[in-house]
Amino acid sequence: MFKETTAKTILYYHEQQFATNWDANIYRGCGHNCKYCFAQYSHKYLETTDFFNDIFVKSNAPELLYKELGKKEWDKSPVNVCGISDCYQPAEAEYEIMPKVIKSFIAKRNPLVIGTKSILILRDIDLIKELNNIAEVSIIISVSTLDEAKRKLIEPDASPTIERLKMLKRFKEIGCKTSVLFMPIIPYISDDQENLDEVFRITKEFNLGSINAWSLHLRGNTKKVFYDFLETNFANLLPEYRKLYKKGNVSKEYSINLQKRVKALRDKYQLHSVYKSTRPVNKEIQLSLFN
Ligand code: SF4
Repeated sequence: MFKETTAKTILYYHEQQFATNWDANIYRGCGHNCKYCFAQYSHKYLETTDFFNDIFVKSNAPELLYKELGKKEWDKSPVNVCGISDCYQPAEAEYEIMPKVIKSFIAKRNPLVIGTKSILILRDIDLIKELNNIAEVSIIISVSTLDEAKRKLIEPDASPTIERLKMLKRFKEIGCKTSVLFMPIIPYISDDQENLDEVFRITKEFNLGSINAWSLHLRGNTKKVFYDFLETNFANLLPEYRKLYKKGNVSKEYSINLQKRVKALRDKYQLHSVYKSTRPVNKEIQLSLFN
């Protein structure tokens, strides 16, 4: 089900900085259907808990962004428009909100961050290029496995991993800032050396910038959904997972071992993890922007 809604405000600040501290969500819920999706919790305040099928579309997002990015207090911080739900998920093919969103960023010459698992973003490459000529655009992809059979099980409605990497290369070539999130690395499913090495190798070969790698977290409802998925597809792994995930994070031993392997690949391919925000964060604006 897709349901159009209108939001009252769109920009929101959070302490956890990766590419930026400012997010704007165009959609709530996500049809990419990733079995490990951490964002499922965000539906608990809505009239449904079906994060993957009940998708709320903020149809007035472009107008709100135009207004809020134009406030005199706004300091032109980069804004991530895929904060909690992928803004190029299947619903975007129907609603075509992102071209209007990007036009608002062009009008306000504001830096933009897009994190996606979909090559649908290529539809808007000309607009993104236009914005990148006047304000930095960062494109971030996240990937888990290059094994298509596994990818189809784990992220059934996202684009094939190699297509995401090729898409990112196109954005790098037109001058956008690019970064790979190798996450989640899924114990005993996508943590084999061949997969790890190949993702790092392609990131280097395509000159995609920084790469960050983390193992799977399983918290709240995500754990239940993921364990159901394991039961159907990898039932033999359930006993191991119960040992690894006594808490939401993977065991310390697994984590330390994985980070050693990741560091060895960083050294091998001379890839860094640093993703620097384009602008310093102005916390004061958080207090004054919506007054
Ligand atoms: S693309 Fe992101 S938000 Fe969408 S289902 Fe996958 S992990 Fe969740």
